[in-house]
Amino acid sequence: MPNPTRTTCVIGGCGPAGAVLGLLLARAGIEVVVLEKHGDFLRDFRGDTIHASTLTLLDELGLGRDFAQLPHQRVETLGVTTDDRDHTLADFRRLPGRHQEIAFLPQWDFLDFVTHHAAELPTFRLRLEAEATGLRIEDGRVVGLSYRDCDGHEHEIRADLTVAADGRRSVLRAAAGLRARRYGAPMDVLWFRLPRRETDAERTAGRLSRGRLLIRIDRGDYWQTAYVIPKGGYRQLRDRGLEAFRADLARLEPFLADRVGDLRSWDDVSMLDVQVDRLRRWHRPGFLCIGDAAHAMSPIGGVGINLAVQDAVAAANLVTDPLESGTLTERDLARVQRRRMPPTVLTQRAQRTIQDRFLQPLLAGESSGGTPLALRLLDRFPALQGITAYAVGIGVRPEHVRHGARCAGPH
Ligand SMILES: Cc1cc2nc3c(=O)[nH]c(=O)nc-3n(C[C@H](O)[C@H](O)[C@H](O)COP(=O)(O)OP(=O)(O)OC[C@H]3O[C@@H](n4cnc5c(N)ncnc54)[C@H](O)[C@@H]3O)c2cc1C
Repeated sequence: MPNPTRTTCVIGGCGPAGAVLGLLLARAGIEVVVLEKHGDFLRDFRGDTIHASTLTLLDELGLGRDFAQLPHQRVETLGVTTDDRDHTLADFRRLPGRHQEIAFLPQWDFLDFVTHHAAELPTFRLRLEAEATGLRIEDGRVVGLSYRDCDGHEHEIRADLTVAADGRRSVLRAAAGLRARRYGAPMDVLWFRLPRRETDAERTAGRLSRGRLLIRIDRGDYWQTAYVIPKGGYRQLRDRGLEAFRADLARLEPFLADRVGDLRSWDDVSMLDVQVDRLRRWHRPGFLCIGDAAHAMSPIGGVGINLAVQDAVAAANLVTDPLESGTLTERDLARVQRRRMPPTVLTQRAQRTIQDRFLQPLLAGESSGGTPLALRLLDRFPALQGITAYAVGIGVRPEHVRHGARCAGPH
């Protein structure tokens, strides 16, 4: 297939936001080109949660049954263990609707799944190893973008709409001159894998103790593990040495003591520099930011993918008709921001409250490893576990697909 130099919508970045927007536009018959700078989606330690709202979306698209065939884990409750005992943080069985769970699936499988289905639609193109490098701007309007291919050759695509879905270090939003307001985060997160044994009785959950928080996600034959540290604390942790780190892990989760030796060097540990930010303005004429490119979320609650997918649905709902009729204006793009800003602000506000009131004192060792008040309330009033489940599994202002399929496809 020759590389198009003109399309209706070009999307920079094929993460959850770009992939879902590409699928939805192509399904509505809009010509769309999605550029992804990597050659595949195989990147470890990304968000792997498929929320109840996304499972519902897949049903609306007729893809729910195919999705159910992918190997994944379904989780009905999320919990945390303190020095006192186990607590349930979120009970997804209390959610309204068909999906009373969240699914855990490696993000690369999810992106393969979405782009595989999109590729069956005649108006969808995905270009891998295509790195967006800048915007084409004429008379103040974004009219497309430039990208570099795997051989280092520069190309240009012109489009009625250019979408930045290139994540929290978005080069496209920077090229558009859009500025993010940054909110501090008191923590960074270390990610690593530890083997999971058949005999492990533990499930996906968190472990909380004075100054320490560890989250382990059951990935079948391994635990994907997140260890939360105070912001900027990685250097100090490394200076103490790998042996001391392994000992910390074994003290916190004694059942892991027999395998912490699998962390052979710091290369086995990935550091996520936690950032929380959001753009004041998500658009310019001919240009829109969605997902992490518009708002990097804190990892609290694991909701970044949900917001990215919901942005994509809202954007598709609001731009499909004007793109089809060739009447797209910046007002249509402003509508996307107006629709998605309230859920973003409310979710980030809740995350920052948890960061400031709970995580910061915990990581500073100022609170005991005992049971914080919020957990005691969740224990005492289990209905609250349904509210946390709603916040994580569905989120503020869930979006639904508005346009039926106009393009011949498998569904
Ligand atoms: C370690 C880690 C764990 C996380 N855990 C969770 C979790 O459990 N649950 C959850 O909901 N969220 C989680 N998140 C957050 C979640 O992954 C993000 O919020 C979500 O993926 C955002 O989707 P996106 O499509 O906006 O951006 P991204 O997922 O960042 O996708 C951007 C895509 O654009 C590509 N790209 C970047 N620059 C360019 C360019 N110049 N040209 C072309 N392509 C480009 C990237 O390669 C990438 O594929 C986690 C994030 C990290 C880093």
